[in-house]
Amino acid sequence: MNRFFISIYCVLIFWSCNTSKNSVVTEPAILTTPQTPTTPSLSKSTYWQQHVDYKMEIDMDVNTYQYKGKQTLVYTNNSPDVLNRVYYHLYFNAFQPGSEMDVRSRTIADPDRRVGDRISKLKPNEIGYIKVNSLKQNGKTLKHETVGTVLEVDLVKPIQPGESVTFNMDFDGQVPVQIRRSGRNNQEGVALSMAQWYPKLAEYDFEGWHAHPYIGREFHGVWGDFDVKLTIDKNYVVGGTGYLQNPNSIGHGYETGEINRPNTDKLTWHFVAPKVHDFTWAADPDYIHDTTQVPNGPMLHFFYKKTMSEEQKNNWKRIQPKSVEFMQYYSETVGKYPYKQYSIIQGGDGGMEYGMCTLLLGEGTYEGLIKGVISHEMAHTWFQFLLANNESKHPWMDEGFSTYIEYHGVNIIFNEGKTNPLEGVYNAYIALANSGREQPLTTHGDRYTFNRSYSLASYYKGGVFLSQLGYIMGEENLNLTIKKYFTDFVFKHPKPLDIIRTAEKISGLELNWYLTDFAQTTNTIDYAVKSVKGNSVTLERIGLMPMPIDLTVTYTDGVTEEFYIPLQMMRGEKPTAATIIKDWAWAYPTYTFETKKTIKSVEIDPSGLMADVDRGNNKK
Ligand SMILES: [Zn+2]
Repeated sequence: MNRFFISIYCVLIFWSCNTSKNSVVTEPAILTTPQTPTTPSLSKSTYWQQHVDYKMEIDMDVNTYQYKGKQTLVYTNNSPDVLNRVYYHLYFNAFQPGSEMDVRSRTIADPDRRVGDRISKLKPNEIGYIKVNSLKQNGKTLKHETVGTVLEVDLVKPIQPGESVTFNMDFDGQVPVQIRRSGRNNQEGVALSMAQWYPKLAEYDFEGWHAHPYIGREFHGVWGDFDVKLTIDKNYVVGGTGYLQNPNSIGHGYETGEINRPNTDKLTWHFVAPKVHDFTWAADPDYIHDTTQVPNGPMLHFFYKKTMSEEQKNNWKRIQPKSVEFMQYYSETVGKYPYKQYSIIQGGDGGMEYGMCTLLLGEGTYEGLIKGVISHEMAHTWFQFLLANNESKHPWMDEGFSTYIEYHGVNIIFNEGKTNPLEGVYNAYIALANSGREQPLTTHGDRYTFNRSYSLASYYKGGVFLSQLGYIMGEENLNLTIKKYFTDFVFKHPKPLDIIRTAEKISGLELNWYLTDFAQTTNTIDYAVKSVKGNSVTLERIGLMPMPIDLTVTYTDGVTEEFYIPLQMMRGEKPTAATIIKDWAWAYPTYTFETKKTIKSVEIDPSGLMADVDRGNNKK
């Protein structure tokens, strides 16, 4: 199975989810202990972000799949605005008959078959829920209302700019039968996959509140420090976000010395996770727990079921050194992974990225596991987790950029030697563009007409966005842009403009047209060779989208020459060894130039790095 098909498989089946002297990469410090809440600031800007500190005590009953939670949340309003209300996500409420996720799945033309109508058939003891029993602001009882997957809260006292308040909540939860991502006793028999399982404060940023109802797709969260005490049956092995504070009273592969367990039926696991926007865990009595140290990097933890076949367990051994290589590759090409731990956990469904960990399907083939899933989910750590653009609004910046570095990582780590590792990704985008079912990348993740259009746009057009930016500005400039984008915006929720402004600062080129046309419209690229006569070439722009042109000319004497036609609105050229000729102003439909020798043939962009939707007319 080649890369392209592995990834189509990943999207449709697992659907979730060069250094240079000039690069200035300041690496975030390894995060081991909670940091003092700070307001990250970009110099000379008015950037701000909210801050949360959670303390939770959770008591899980592994027989009823119900849990009781106490949550103390210190919320700091770093915005310039007075807040009269706050909102929490109650994601587990999506797994109830009649929920928006259920109805959407039953009314969309191409439902995810893993969801289908399964939610509508859940019995009361199989649904998911979070019931808020009490909520207080600085000790005063608050009025709150659960509306689907969102808790609406009227504050007793508005929160002033710069003020911190404490919310105390008591809640009851029930883990749903696994439909997607979270849940219990899934098809691979993992007891508890616990993602988006706690009342989670919605993000408030320069665009206001993001209390998105959960319809089954993307997330956006607030950074903060988590302190979680999880009390659960003593036989269960837990993996997830956060550093275990009491390893020797737990054991289960975490011990650092002599194990000294209390003589109780349940153990209390104490985790601390600094500067994360999510806290995820999974637990199973049959987990094998392996660890592998990444040199100068985090400890990798692997959790997989001992009840799998010998071959499957062997796959989980084989992925360990390769996972080290992916961690190193991404740290070198994007930015250093800042935590001292990362866990790869058999969650029994799909593949999905979370803070300091991923939950994924564990019974696949070795190639599917490492090339199709782990490479992708780990790549997300940099984009979904550390940069954390608003995934709901801009899923392409997360899925697409992860896809880009994933394919390059696979190409390097598996020595595949492809000149364009994303060739299949380009073909998938081009098929979408020509299908009549494309929606602009600016579409909210939940608002695509078809699931398939969402996947192809977010993963593949998003991947092409970055790869093609390399065609436009030069590969080396793209590599520097990715590093600078990470360095400047890590832990800052970047916006689409931030990647383009970074690219402009690295290259000195004007590039906002690229964001406008490729992300905000469905305009397509189609350049053609209109005619070749003697030593004269005429090219034609057929699609609406502007592009600079790489052109290879072969003369009748067999010699080839590379030409570069700058796009006038870029106000410059990429670094190139090609012969640079006069620029092309977009509105002119044709462009003619003459060579010194007689031409035999001409080809536009032989590299295939420009996403031309009709390559049939690129050659003459
Ligand atoms: Zn993904």
